[in-house]
Amino acid sequence: MAKQDDNLLKKIISHAKEYGFIFPSSEIYDGLAATYDYGQNGVELKNNLKQYWWKFMVQMHENIVGIDAAIFMHPTTWKASGHVDAFNDPMIDNKDSKKRYRADVLIEEHVAKIEAKIKKEVTKAAKRFGEDFDEAQFLATNPRVLDNQKKIEAINERLKKGMESDLDDLKLLIEELGIACPVSGSKNWTDVRQFNLMFSTELGSLADGASTIYLRPETAQGIFVNFLNVQKTGRMKIPFGIAQIGKAFRNEIIARQFIFRMREFEQMEMQFFVKPGEELEWYESWKQKRIQWHKALGLGEENYRFHDHLNLAHYANAACDIEFDFPMGFKELEGIHSRTDFDLKAHEEHSGKKLQFFDHQENKSYVPYVIETSIGLDRLFLAVLSASYTEETLEDGSERTVLKIPAALAPTKVAVLPLLKKDGLPEKAREVIDGLKLDHTCQYDEKDAIGRRYRRQDAVGTPYCVTVDHQSLEDGTVTLRHRDTAEQERISIEALNDKIVQLVSFKTLLAAQ
Ligand code: ATP
Repeated sequence: MAKQDDNLLKKIISHAKEYGFIFPSSEIYDGLAATYDYGQNGVELKNNLKQYWWKFMVQMHENIVGIDAAIFMHPTTWKASGHVDAFNDPMIDNKDSKKRYRADVLIEEHVAKIEAKIKKEVTKAAKRFGEDFDEAQFLATNPRVLDNQKKIEAINERLKKGMESDLDDLKLLIEELGIACPVSGSKNWTDVRQFNLMFSTELGSLADGASTIYLRPETAQGIFVNFLNVQKTGRMKIPFGIAQIGKAFRNEIIARQFIFRMREFEQMEMQFFVKPGEELEWYESWKQKRIQWHKALGLGEENYRFHDHLNLAHYANAACDIEFDFPMGFKELEGIHSRTDFDLKAHEEHSGKKLQFFDHQENKSYVPYVIETSIGLDRLFLAVLSASYTEETLEDGSERTVLKIPAALAPTKVAVLPLLKKDGLPEKAREVIDGLKLDHTCQYDEKDAIGRRYRRQDAVGTPYCVTVDHQSLEDGTVTLRHRDTAEQERISIEALNDKIVQLVSFKTLLAAQ
């Protein structure tokens, strides 16, 4: 995939719209910023991604169960979790362009530029020294690299302190680094201010004493408040996990980059409850499990990396992101956090109810520690789209745009195409589809020349096309075309379903994990 490719992102956005994956929300009214609707193909891909996650996290772990909590929660939940007081982003406006930015993001982007300089030095040196090149030694000794690393450390240190308690210094840092507004090019900045990201609304009518409630900014709290319900009714023993997929809402300051940063999005989270003191071991273990799950998708191992957090959230004693190489560069796809006992303890304090586990072996109760894995479904969707989007020239010289989506995730698994719209071929094709549709999402298409129909299926990522021709009527065979190679094989209609079941099964993705 091309790095930092704005052009690629634009192509993906228009492809996603043209082929029914993602539409701007309420488009006939010119849309609503950072809100999107999933179309007929998008919803299938999204459901398959949920299934891939759920099968792995819940079905393949006998000590993890799922729930589906309400979006609205008692307002005290968000007081206890710290969101009312601390779920803020530092924002800064450019006075000339009137554009608003997150101060920390401006600084992080500046750091990324310095990191890119270091990378460039390494590439240059590797070329110069050839096989003798020792990257570790180069990084440890080259004066320009060392100088840049020092700069990065100093900036990160100030960013951390500024985020904790000194917004004025964040502004000063932006000025000292000479960061300019990407739109106006000017360095004419306002002060940095805190901005709470939660959406609020009123519960009940004003007359009967309405109270402010929030749209949940994360799904995790629905799990924490149900900790005892699940533990008791499921007779769960520590360590155990609770998983959930659901909507979350954040009033993001900058909501650009398509479905990467939305104001309404979906999270897939799992809270894993462990014995205090064992949390860092479990943190490491979940880091490894989750990266393996991502890599098993086959989108390219080089597209993933860990980013350990320097600025730990108020509740965490270790945290990292799994970053993916999106068209905008490496960005957070999933967060893995060691949340200590912060949340359960806070809910104990605010509710006055005990949220503890009685450990029979130790003969005592304790508040468990928590490891959380939290992935944005929409970001995962964008990762799959951007890694799958391919423009290529086939052997016969024809050009195509193909989504090489892993077969198990593809919106449509099989397209059944009668070669001609006559001679009984459509009827035979319907028969074939009847034999497949109980197991697979299928499409029937008889319009246009067969080549154009293949292109249409390539564009939506259908891994298999079955063509019914005159020979099918004589000997009960069809051609099976493979999307990625465009190769075709002849196969009997009887054997077709079993073969496709094997080819599109989640088992191939999950078996090795
Ligand atoms: P970021 O730093 O990008 O704002 P975050 O660290 O606030 O993200 P978390 O609170 O850790 O994100 O949320 C867990 C996951 O939810 C993220 O890894 C991401 O995939 C997803 N996510 C968070 N905010 C959004 C959003 N506005 N739109 C889409 N997905 C999001």
